[in-house]
Amino acid sequence: MHSDQTTIVVVEDDPNISELICLYLRRDGHRVVAAPDGERGLAAVKRERPGLVVLDVGLPGGMDGFEVCRRIRAEGAVAVLLLTARDEEIDRVLGFELGADDYVTKPFSPRELAARVKAIIRRAGAAGPASTAVLTVGSITVDTGRREALLGGNAVPLATREFDLLAYLATNRGLALSRRQLLDGVWGPDWYGDDRTVDVHIGQLRKKFGPDLALSTVWGVGYRLD
Ligand code: CA
Repeated sequence: MHSDQTTIVVVEDDPNISELICLYLRRDGHRVVAAPDGERGLAAVKRERPGLVVLDVGLPGGMDGFEVCRRIRAEGAVAVLLLTARDEEIDRVLGFELGADDYVTKPFSPRELAARVKAIIRRAGAAGPASTAVLTVGSITVDTGRREALLGGNAVPLATREFDLLAYLATNRGLALSRRQLLDGVWGPDWYGDDRTVDVHIGQLRKKFGPDLALSTVWGVGYRLD
């Protein structure tokens, strides 16, 4: 078995797209299981316990990708990469309460998708023992080893990027950070997203932590955590 092998479940109803994705991911050494709809996708996730799910938003059979994602999240922490067909879906994807780890807009190049998958897996692997720290910011505790955020001792469920953003802000506490710096630091320099991506995730953190999160908007710059 390849040492970097990750099991990936691909939920996509278009057989051509599904085949292409599977081909590229297998070529990168991953074990790939394909499912053509939400029901079978969920069954595959339960059965295979994958490290990542590539999930199409537009699925047949009454359960769209958002619903599938919600159910996957309810079962445990699995990284999810959403495939979205229309620009209008992007706001929903970014504002999505349970938070996808990343998304790709159709039509996409399989190479780009493979690169995103690699980045998600690398990020998950980077959270190993070498990079652990427990940061305290007021009543909030950020444990990068356990990848856990606590508010007054209670765990606050965060999507992968929300956690990464909070950890980055906490690590650079007291510094005004531009949206560009946050994009580079949290999403990586290869990320194609824009300022809106940062703002949406900041909004999620504010919503989840409320006034306990001493996060200021620095006009003309970005954000600062005190
Ligand atoms: Ca579809």
